Amino acid sequence: MASEKHFKYVILGGGVAAGYAAREFGKQGVQPGELAIISKESVAPYERPALSKGYLFPQNAARLPGFHTCVGGGGEKLLPEWYTEKGIELILSTEIVKADLASKTLTSAAGATFTYETLLIATGSSTIKLIDFGVQGAESNNILYLREIDDADKLVAAMQAKKDGKAVVVGGGYIGLELSAALKINNFDVTMVYPEPWCSKSDCSCLLSLFF
Ligand SMILES: Cc1cc2nc3c(=O)[nH]c(=O)nc-3n(C[C@H](O)[C@H](O)[C@H](O)COP(=O)(O)OP(=O)(O)OC[C@H]3O[C@@H](n4cnc5c(N)ncnc54)[C@H](O)[C@@H]3O)c2cc1C
Repeated sequence: MASEKHFKYVILGGGVAAGYAAREFGKQGVQPGELAIISKESVAPYERPALSKGYLFPQNAARLPGFHTCVGGGGEKLLPEWYTEKGIELILSTEIVKADLASKTLTSAAGATFTYETLLIATGSSTIKLIDFGVQGAESNNILYLREIDDADKLVAAMQAKKDGKAVVVGGGYIGLELSAALKINNFDVTMVYPEPWCSKSDCSCLLSLFF
């Protein structure tokens, strides 16, 4: 039978905002059992910016638990044990697929339900994928995206499997630039494609790399 749990506070999403909010809840004296973080990722909140930087280094790459929030802001690194000590429940690998605001109930893909008194939605953003446009061949293994740690792991595996290969990075925002730099230091021949005449300072929510 699918489980049911109740919390005073639920943070939906386990990314950067969730980690920093949890730290503040801790400072404000949240009581054990009052707060839960529900995330479809399998790890405690971490500093996502590391994924296009130290995570892709060929040597001495950043790995968890080294960059859990809140180290990016110069604060304490909140390891999974910190959440346990505070009585904050980390409900990981759990995707919420339905939110009924009238009954204050969230439902996961596996059918578990979570009720709350106050909900903080911190689901961030997601990459635009070629599949969204019905592009033929969009599910090919050599098309990669970068948003979550699982994406970064796939990228690392692809770089290791295809040493000194060629890559095309689509998107000339800062993530595209950082990823291109990371590919270069991994000895890839990199071509960047973007519509503007210059690289853009703004964020790019869509990013993909093709390895030949
Ligand atoms: C590769 C990369 C590099 C970046 N570098 C920088 C940088 O150098 N400087 C900078 O300022 N910003 C950077 N950013 C942007 C920064 O990471 C984001 O602004 C920040 O992560 C936003 O925090 P958030 O908590 O709102 O969302 P996120 O950190 O994206 O967290 C959202 C969370 O919600 C979860 N989630 C979403 N939907 C569901 C659901 N239905 N059920 C359960 N869980 C769900 C996700 O799995 C994720 O854990 C970078 C982003 C990326 C992807």
